[in-house]
Amino acid sequence: MDLKILWMYHDLMDLYGDKGNTQVLKIRAEKRGIDVTVDTCTIGEERDISDYDLFFMGGGADNEQGLIYQDLLSRRGSIEKAMNEKTAFLLICGGYQLFGKYYKDQDGNVIDGLNFFDYYTESTDRDHRCIGNIALETEMDGEVFKAVGFENHGGQTKNVTTPFGKVLSGHGNMFKSGFEGFMNDQVVATYMHGPLLPKNPKIADKILMRALRKRHGEVKLAELDDTLENAARETMLKRLGV
Ligand code: GLN
Repeated sequence: MDLKILWMYHDLMDLYGDKGNTQVLKIRAEKRGIDVTVDTCTIGEERDISDYDLFFMGGGADNEQGLIYQDLLSRRGSIEKAMNEKTAFLLICGGYQLFGKYYKDQDGNVIDGLNFFDYYTESTDRDHRCIGNIALETEMDGEVFKAVGFENHGGQTKNVTTPFGKVLSGHGNMFKSGFEGFMNDQVVATYMHGPLLPKNPKIADKILMRALRKRHGEVKLAELDDTLENAARETMLKRLGV
């Protein structure tokens, strides 16, 4: 069995170790005997995005978002085809924002998003950002569990109909908003850097299963020993008192 991952804008959208997410996906799949390819793609490179089972895009500061957004918009057709063909998506922070209607940065400049979803993001002023450790409760494929990460965004994301989770500690989509990220049955979009997956192996496996489903149907993943990962997550949950 094989899995094809596309790591989009690896050279520009990679804040706070977001690249660790692709490494975790690769290692956890390989431990189950799955052959994994991770291809990168940046501005100007030809790629049929629908060739891939999983699309990953990390976060980026306003500057990087400004550099990549036109290239991203030029790929809308290819991304839409991937969505229709059931590619799974993991989008972090700046990547999350650009799949919505628009992003308005701290200077008031507006950049268009891909407009796949109804949410939009407007930044506060420079002195006010949502920064710090964050914990949330999410439900993926019928399983409810807690996840931890780190957020750092000025963007306030509004009009999210189906969030990724309920905030237990931290901010989420807006200051003290109560909800974090966006999720549907293909897309996980979140402000959680950290990176997300090393501390939350359950999310990694749920995303792997979504990605494998595209060409291989329902795949049952063997259990791995996640003692250290779970201890790291439990430590943070305890520190945050949730
Ligand atoms: N520039 C965006 C914001 O500040 C995204 C930042 C990020 O990806 N961490 O909201």
